Amino acid sequence: MDEIRVRFAPSPTGALHIGGARTALLNWLFARSQGGKFILRIEDTDQARSTTHSESGIIEGLRWLNLDWDEGPDIGGPYGPYRQSERLPLYKKYLDYLVNTGKAYYCFCSTEEIEAQRKQADQKKIPYRYNRRCCALSKEEIETNLFQHKPYVIRLKAPDSGETRVHDLVRGDISFQNELLDDFILMKSDGLPTYQFAVVVDDALMKISHVIRAEEHLANTPKQLLLYEALGFTPPIFAHVSMILSPDRSKLSKRHGATSVQEFAQNGYLPQALLNYLVLLGWSPGNGADILTLQEMIDQFDLSNLSKSAAVYDIEKINWLNAHYIAEESPETLLKLLRHLPRQIPENCFDAQVLPILKLLQSRLKKLTDFANQSFYFFHEVTDYEGKGIQKYFAQPDALENLAAVLEVVRATLPFDEEHLEKNLREEANRRSIKAAALIHPTRLALTGRTNSPGIFEVMCLLGSDICQRRIQSALNFIRRFDAKEFK
Ligand code: GLU
Repeated sequence: MDEIRVRFAPSPTGALHIGGARTALLNWLFARSQGGKFILRIEDTDQARSTTHSESGIIEGLRWLNLDWDEGPDIGGPYGPYRQSERLPLYKKYLDYLVNTGKAYYCFCSTEEIEAQRKQADQKKIPYRYNRRCCALSKEEIETNLFQHKPYVIRLKAPDSGETRVHDLVRGDISFQNELLDDFILMKSDGLPTYQFAVVVDDALMKISHVIRAEEHLANTPKQLLLYEALGFTPPIFAHVSMILSPDRSKLSKRHGATSVQEFAQNGYLPQALLNYLVLLGWSPGNGADILTLQEMIDQFDLSNLSKSAAVYDIEKINWLNAHYIAEESPETLLKLLRHLPRQIPENCFDAQVLPILKLLQSRLKKLTDFANQSFYFFHEVTDYEGKGIQKYFAQPDALENLAAVLEVVRATLPFDEEHLEKNLREEANRRSIKAAALIHPTRLALTGRTNSPGIFEVMCLLGSDICQRRIQSALNFIRRFDAKEFK
């Protein structure tokens, strides 16, 4: 079999949407699982909407996801250039061929004329088809028009009967009636190729073996097949993957939360969590596993397992996967990612200060962006206490006495480590015939301002004896300032 060559061909008209990221991932997995090539091609022939900012955002998003490509606009390759706006002479060559062989023709109809035809079709409730007026133009008429610089487009002379059959790996065989396919445009009046034309020329010249893309392009495929035939190219194998829908089955949009890869990165998601989530949308490994490393995905990936039904976006599942991957990741890697996020780590903090805190908190983070809040008391003084904690722990008759006892334990514990702290605190509780929890809860509130934190002895060790003593002292002062009545 010929070499497996697949491509991701984004139009740089916006951010890298998760639908696009999934298409890229599936292509990448297929290439990597088959020892093939993964190609990045930028489809920027829509001049009005394409921007270099969007192109760099897409590239950044793919890099963040760790999806690398073998050929692309930044690294070149044997079938370049890989940006459509740089391939115009190639399109011209194939357009000339189609026009010269009578398979395509100049169309000088104005936008108003086309609009009027469209309206008529709408009124008659029949599908619009260009009326082919310009197909009948004589050579002289064409030349006169060209000489007069009349704007024109070039259209394919599409068959008006018969059918075009698309064989799709996901959806099976689908027939399209040719009479419903228009003499569609190959070159626009601005001289640039249309998507339909450029995609076929590029896929053929870049020797793409499989086109794996979103289902929304299925309707374009018969047109593209007609072009393959007209150009004498062998079509690739097609696989159209289902769309990602919102939970209410509408089109996924901003109102359903983050939809671009950049947003996920900024919101504290790990690339492998997003990749793991995206691969499960529309594909399932034979063994039904939920959590897959990239290597496991590559090893198990099989195009025949792509699902036909729409994938439903599920933020809870992404969050669950994200928490899993954060818990599994090395604190060093998490720290690198965290340092790219604004306002997560206070300025001038060394890695050595942050790493132990990160290690302690990582299993509690759903997103990296939870770090600033969850680590707050390690980097800042505790100035207030959670209201429900005050009621529950500070407003108790024995609160002062218990916390004062903890202060003594803290002062006396040497070495100041988890083991000795725990031992001494439990012994103190025994001496007082109270539960250790009666000492631990107010201590947690005094040290963190919160009722919830990781293990209190670990927290104490990280804060160090001096800070623990100071904060317990402040809590004692706080309790003294209010008598029991005021608490109630
Ligand atoms: N540029 C097209 C898009 O972004 C690519 C479609 C295709 O893969 O053929 O949707």
